Amino acid sequence: MAHVGEIQVDEDDGENNMAAWLLGIKTLKIQPYHLPPLAIEWTIELILSYVVEQLSVVLGPHDVKVGIKALGICGSDVHHFKTMRCANFIVKKPMVIGHECAGIIEEVGSEVKSLAVGDRVALEPGISCQRCNLCRDGRYNLCPEMKFFGSPPTNGSLANKVVHPANLCFKLPENVSLEEGAMCEPLSVGVHACRRAEVGPETNVLIMGAGPIGLVTLLAARAFGSPRIVIVDVDDCRLSIAKNLGADEIVQVSTNIQDMGEEVAKIQNAMASKIDVSFDCVGFNKTMSTALNATGTGGKVCLIGLAQSEMTIPLTMAAVREVDVIGIFRYRNTWPLCIEFLRTGKIDVKPLITHRFGFSQKGIEDAFQTSAAGGNAIKVMFNL
Ligand SMILES: [Zn+2]
Ligand SMILES: [Zn+2]
Repeated sequence: MAHVGEIQVDEDDGENNMAAWLLGIKTLKIQPYHLPPLAIEWTIELILSYVVEQLSVVLGPHDVKVGIKALGICGSDVHHFKTMRCANFIVKKPMVIGHECAGIIEEVGSEVKSLAVGDRVALEPGISCQRCNLCRDGRYNLCPEMKFFGSPPTNGSLANKVVHPANLCFKLPENVSLEEGAMCEPLSVGVHACRRAEVGPETNVLIMGAGPIGLVTLLAARAFGSPRIVIVDVDDCRLSIAKNLGADEIVQVSTNIQDMGEEVAKIQNAMASKIDVSFDCVGFNKTMSTALNATGTGGKVCLIGLAQSEMTIPLTMAAVREVDVIGIFRYRNTWPLCIEFLRTGKIDVKPLITHRFGFSQKGIEDAFQTSAAGGNAIKVMFNL
């Protein structure tokens, strides 16, 4: 399926909201986006007001309209762009791409008290059902009904405007920029992983992979108090970025599985102490095997990167040393802490933003090419 169709262009779209639509493999087009009303609790009063205002109501009572100002490209966006899928999610019809964003409130629903027009906010991209057992248990990131920006079939947020629930929009302090606000999304992955692995002031941390997720995990682990962090990658350019961001030691490795024994010893030497928690931010047989072997007895390995859907790893030897394997999926309740880390300067995400593009047809094409090429591109950001 190379092409999934064209967008119906609505002639009388007075608002002229434009968005970046993914139409096929490596095919992105800026086209009009008619904002849908969100799923809201329809009461008789609401239905009546809806009819009375002749279908002009866009905002639900608890929703806000946000003018998007900054949006970062994520690895999953690149995956959708290149293959029209990511893990089990397949793009079957045109979809607005993007989910790491921040913007300015333009309109608030009738019941919204916490936000006002003009507020600068960072958006948490996933809308959970709030009714299932996982949601009620607080683990809403695992909700089977999750509607997540730019994850098919839900439209994303690389658009001039989006409508979103007010409780998923977090006000930014004056000293935190909109770009930094957009970085709360990737940073949330690192924060959630550190919470799951219980990183604290006595936790020596190993990170496999110095890509965007490895680097935000490094920043989060430091902010959680980790005294010593070793980071591993094949690319010396990425390793030097990690070093500049505060990694205590960097270790360059190969992609060859035969080198693993030697590399594990090198990593353990670099730590010069027991490795308590390892994060695999890549997800290959070799990275996960290295993490399992390098982690100290009684430690934890947290799998974040999902490069391979199935892996052959030395699990038995890790199990008898009571090394716990932890998985994570996105994040939950992380925006307030991320914003606090940014406000206090405990985390600086600005060095991760390596490229900036405008919101034009050429801009979106160049930006996705740059992000897909990898190399020295860490976070590619749009300014809208
Ligand atoms: Zn992301
Ligand atoms: Zn739910």
